[in-house]
Amino acid sequence: MPTTRSECEQYDADDPLASLREEFVLPEGVIYLDGNSLGALPQTAAGRVADMVETEWGQGLIRSWNDAGWFDKPGVLGDRIAPLIGAGTGEVVVCDSTSINLFKVFAAALAMRPDRKVVVSEAGSFPTDLYMMEGATGLLDGYERRLIGAGGPTLEDALDEDVAVVVLSHVDYRTGRLHDMVTVTELAHRHGALVVWDLCHSVGALPVHLGDCRADFAVGCTYKYLNGGPGSPAFLYVAARHQDVARQPLSGWHGHANPFAFATDYRPADGITRFRCSTPQLLSYAPLEASLDIWERVDLDLLRAKSLRMTDLFIELVDQECAGLGLDIASPRDADARGSQVAVRHADGYPVMRALIDRGVIGDFRAPDLLRFGFTPLYVRYVDVWDAVQELRDVLSSEVWRDVRYATRAQVT
Ligand SMILES: *Cc1c(COP(=O)(O)O)cnc(C)c1O
Repeated sequence: MPTTRSECEQYDADDPLASLREEFVLPEGVIYLDGNSLGALPQTAAGRVADMVETEWGQGLIRSWNDAGWFDKPGVLGDRIAPLIGAGTGEVVVCDSTSINLFKVFAAALAMRPDRKVVVSEAGSFPTDLYMMEGATGLLDGYERRLIGAGGPTLEDALDEDVAVVVLSHVDYRTGRLHDMVTVTELAHRHGALVVWDLCHSVGALPVHLGDCRADFAVGCTYKYLNGGPGSPAFLYVAARHQDVARQPLSGWHGHANPFAFATDYRPADGITRFRCSTPQLLSYAPLEASLDIWERVDLDLLRAKSLRMTDLFIELVDQECAGLGLDIASPRDADARGSQVAVRHADGYPVMRALIDRGVIGDFRAPDLLRFGFTPLYVRYVDVWDAVQELRDVLSSEVWRDVRYATRAQVT
């Protein structure tokens, strides 16, 4: 039996997370399926930013480093993100960007395996991860890189006693394919390698269990599913058992054991604090705080259930409504192997997405041919899934995407 719009309305009526949508500013006439690139604006975020600017900065001035808790914010917010990724108190810090944090934890991991000269990652990784690894190994001598997937070896084949560190995205940014974190971490550990997990497309998309998986290091951004706002600070995780030995190379004063002693030599702080570098971009922390107020009330198992139901529904409806229109599902059809997004191939993916955005359905495009749709359970409804597929079908069957105005590529796709 085909699914109908009224069934989708019923799913929304029964959805235990439905009321969370009211916590976000969502423009009229828009179906937002790109929260996996930039999350929506929490209702209270603008007020929180204004308060930080007008009261904490304007009135408090320099006193706010102490009185408004500015100095401790990276650790305090890290402890608020920890439950979302299965980390403990003192294992997460919020600072810098994902790329910078990857550099820090990757370099720290390399230094913990000094006799091993091979690093492993995935050919289809988000490129910044590969680039930052290149930058870090480029400062050292004699490292070899092995890339799994895309015609290369499997992880099993790539691993041997020379491998120092494995860097993998838990959820693939293009297809949404999910790695089994327990199995992969165990496999790497069996060969004596350390693992860095990139959680950019996992945090806020599904429950993550870093501690239970015995993960070593992780990084992730907060502007995607976490809704921290454009350029909001990233996080990094270091398992408590590694914190005494792990040393990161960006040894700025905020990671020093006693920054206000202004000593000549660097001495790393205890614990996760040594992974800080320097003065935090405080105004960017304010919207993230507003967002974490919402996340505190979210049951991650309900979130995962809704996410999979929405992505299953989307795949089912694309099959049902768009048959014969040149689409091919690029994401795993097996729900257990999927994050919270669905990628669909189309030979003219770019103009198709532009035409779709013109009709108020916002997803994005990843070269060469992927239309990418993110399903954020906090504010996307089942009827949105239905309506988005109807628009997709209309764009394809009417061929409006052939209009010349959709052909030129914008800087950000
Ligand atoms: C979004 C994303 C990043 C972004 O890195 P920035 O340093 O924030 O620009 C990194 N890795 C993955 C897997 C991502 O999806």
